[in-house]
Amino acid sequence: MVSESEIVNLRMLIGKASRAVFFGGAGVSTESGIPDFRSQDGLYRQKYKYPPEQILSHDFFVGHTAEFYDFYRDKMLCLDAQPNAAHLRLAEWEKEGHLAAVVTQNIDGLHQKAGSKNVLELHGSIWRNRCMQCGMPFPVQRIRKGEGVPRCPCGGIVKPDVVLYGEPLDEQVMDKAVEYIRRADVLIVGGTSLNVYPAAGLIDFFRGENIVVINKGAPAKDMRGVRFIYGKIGEVFSLV
Ligand code: NAD
Repeated sequence: MVSESEIVNLRMLIGKASRAVFFGGAGVSTESGIPDFRSQDGLYRQKYKYPPEQILSHDFFVGHTAEFYDFYRDKMLCLDAQPNAAHLRLAEWEKEGHLAAVVTQNIDGLHQKAGSKNVLELHGSIWRNRCMQCGMPFPVQRIRKGEGVPRCPCGGIVKPDVVLYGEPLDEQVMDKAVEYIRRADVLIVGGTSLNVYPAAGLIDFFRGENIVVINKGAPAKDMRGVRFIYGKIGEVFSLV
């Protein structure tokens, strides 16, 4: 149960902030019906022939492209999901001039659907796809409706613009994220186990005093000395 004083504190911090940054992960979208990786009903607890971390790796994509796409269509391509209260509040705070950027590990595009403009997608997006041979963009709806390995008219294999395990992160996006976090007056971290690096290391660039973590469970990283709100982020944000 989230206490009234925690909500009041968070409301005050956001109200005073002019360049707050939100750093989030898969837990931000579970209330929109998209499973995360590590919760009880997350993708790691479900039975697949291979563990999700292996399926979502660069080597697996190259070696087992059809099996990658079976899993990807089934579990990652959540095109109909809608933003929840967390996405919507963040978009409002940006509009009101309190929030400078959302830095997300998510690939679902729900922050943009909610109206956020400055979203730094550390791990890319399911909404962008490209031919590996000629570079031509490929519509996501065609991936969803199709079967097997999606191919460009030129014959090349289409790859989603998501960062698979074993692939480097976009340096420009990382640099921007570091800059926003370094300059932030408030850092809110939510819905992430802080297990996936280098993304999780970004919060160490925060120089301010006001960092608040909102999570359903304890994150992997040592967060001693940090204000911690245990709860569902959509529920918490709808009270702030
Ligand atoms: P994770 O699965 O490792 O951790 C999710 C965390 O969120 C857990 O600590 C869990 O307790 C917490 N959580 C779940 N629901 C919550 C809620 N409603 N409110 C508050 N906390 C909640 O996810 P991660 O840390 O983001 O790392 C996994 C990787 O998987 C990331 O790279 C991410 O891009 C990717 N991923 C993305 C999506 C998506 O785009 N929606 C979905 C699954 C995985």
